[in-house]
Amino acid sequence: MNIESYIRVTPDFPKPGIIFRDFTPLLADGPAFKALIDQLSARYAGKAIDVVVGIEARGFVLASALAYALGAGTVLIRKAGKLPHATHAQEYELEYGSSVLEISCDALQAGQRVLVVDDVLATGGTIGAAVQLLSEHFAVTIEELAFLIELDDLKGREKLPQLPIHSVFHY
Ligand code: 5GP
Repeated sequence: MNIESYIRVTPDFPKPGIIFRDFTPLLADGPAFKALIDQLSARYAGKAIDVVVGIEARGFVLASALAYALGAGTVLIRKAGKLPHATHAQEYELEYGSSVLEISCDALQAGQRVLVVDDVLATGGTIGAAVQLLSEHFAVTIEELAFLIELDDLKGREKLPQLPIHSVFHY
């Protein structure tokens, strides 16, 4: 099955000059979504992953399905102000301005093996903030950073040279 054909390309969204890659058609198709999750879970089966960490919002969809397939838990890294319990926060730069990601202080336990999942690796700002949250506040092992899509020209992986990165599709 060619699951890549389910990724829809929209030029000039959300702003002129940006080529937006939208994978919601892939999520909407049962066999394509299953093929994607089967492919990712085959990669991480046997790696003793305790928790799949997803980044708001599209990362949640991939993280929860993958966690279920692996028999792992799911932890959410959310935009500021959404988590009710005490949180750790990390600010990061956007193209214009900045944003904040948060994780619950009690989300992870020392010694856990985690996989971090998001839909797109672009400049690496988002995943960089997520990795900082995990490595500064929790004694966990990050097995890998996994993405559906990596936008190679933006060189996001150069911001995270110390960690293995896997992307299903590269553009
Ligand atoms: P970064 O922080 O690496 O520059 O951007 C990554 C974040 O922006 C991801 O969380 C992703 O959801 C979003 N993003 C950037 N470009 C795209 C795109 O072309 N398609 C989608 N779906 N999300 C994008």
